[in-house]
Amino acid sequence: MQFLTLAPDDVRYAVAEPVVPGVRRVLAENPSKFTYFGTGTYLVGEDDEVVVVDPGPSLDAHRDALEQALSGSTVRAILITHCHSDHSPLAAWLQEATGAPTIAWGPHGDEAWDIGGDLPELAVPSDEPADDGSAAKVEESIDRSFRPDVACADGEMVASGAGWEMHAVHTPGHTSNHTCFALDADDRRILFTGDHVMGWSTTVVSPPDGDMAAYLRSLRKVGGSAYDLGIPTHGPPIDRFASFVDDLVDHRLQREAGVLGGVRDGLVTVPQLVLSLYADVRPELHQPAARSVLAHLVKLVDDGAVVCEGSDRPRLDSTFRAV
Ligand SMILES: [Zn+2]
Repeated sequence: MQFLTLAPDDVRYAVAEPVVPGVRRVLAENPSKFTYFGTGTYLVGEDDEVVVVDPGPSLDAHRDALEQALSGSTVRAILITHCHSDHSPLAAWLQEATGAPTIAWGPHGDEAWDIGGDLPELAVPSDEPADDGSAAKVEESIDRSFRPDVACADGEMVASGAGWEMHAVHTPGHTSNHTCFALDADDRRILFTGDHVMGWSTTVVSPPDGDMAAYLRSLRKVGGSAYDLGIPTHGPPIDRFASFVDDLVDHRLQREAGVLGGVRDGLVTVPQLVLSLYADVRPELHQPAARSVLAHLVKLVDDGAVVCEGSDRPRLDSTFRAV
């Protein structure tokens, strides 16, 4: 599928840049394989009252840039899509500095079952250099201290101003507590998509908190003609949002078909499936790919198409069999 890229020359950190009327972005300088050029913190509101979406990582330079961008404004609410460490940590400082409530679905979910450790079969030789210092990292880190002041319900209005309202749209999948925020203005409907829909890359869905079946349901929930524009935390705004979401659904279903086909062909372990399905992908991405393959296997087991042998719930070291 066709992803949306940014040119390095178009990337500016630590300044509030207009995205669309009434929305500005302050980009944090935390580029990585999970964050693209960094975390975009969004400031919503035309006048001196603003709502902040995803305050971002705990970086002094980003905090100072937000302080400057928000000077003279009253912060009415702090919305958090989910509590990975590139999204929520500065919420505590901003809440303290402004008195505005933090609003999110809830804290990070508990681990529902043990998926086992990383797979030695997919280890990268240690003499290969890590391209951005994060290549060895398999998962985004979690801000487990995060607790919102207000736990929002699906569809609930979380903020409003002159001529606009914002509503929570619960979108589990990337994480169980992931929530998008819809901005309904007079002439347009915008969705702040967090990590649910990103223009530059597919989203990490890593069990047990990441859930592929829920992720597909959540994609369909925000698809169709519901929104004119998607604004992700990482990467540029997504203009043709409905067709982009359709492509994401197709992409995941193709991968699911590949995993099921692989199991039927006798690839019965996660490493066997990864080395076959991701043969054209750099080896340092094979461990994260294993999480994605496991996410598809969990769904296929729950759908009754595959069984998992040797453990109650699918693990990275389980053996699988087609039904
Ligand atoms: Zn995330």
